Amino acid sequence: MRTPDREGAPVDHGELDVCWSLVCDDGHAWDAWTPDVRSVPDEVARCPEDGAPAVTAMRLPRADRPTVVLVPAARRRDGRDTHDDEVFLELRGPGGRSLRTPIPIRWEQAVRRAAELRTRTWDDAARVWERLG
Ligand SMILES: [Zn+2]
Repeated sequence: MRTPDREGAPVDHGELDVCWSLVCDDGHAWDAWTPDVRSVPDEVARCPEDGAPAVTAMRLPRADRPTVVLVPAARRRDGRDTHDDEVFLELRGPGGRSLRTPIPIRWEQAVRRAAELRTRTWDDAARVWERLG
């Protein structure tokens, strides 16, 4: 599903664009992720504990964070797979923008770098990415 981000460019969130914060009459609270819809879908409007309907629902848009993708760089040579420990690290942001390591890097390095970027906005993550080289 593609939805407009704050600048109006499409963002691909894999159909989980909105988090509904829901509460039933018995005070149970639960979260439900849905595509970008304006009202709570029936299938998530029931309390998972007692089946009571939600009496309050707060619509929480997804925060601006890059999507992190680890693309395997393993390849087949002479009948066997090699370089299983290498990946391309890719960041995906609004408007189809993306950043990817030009060459494969070690899995551990990719995970470390992804951890550094995971709580940043797209713009901030892209700035840090440039600095990391
Ligand atoms: Zn309940």
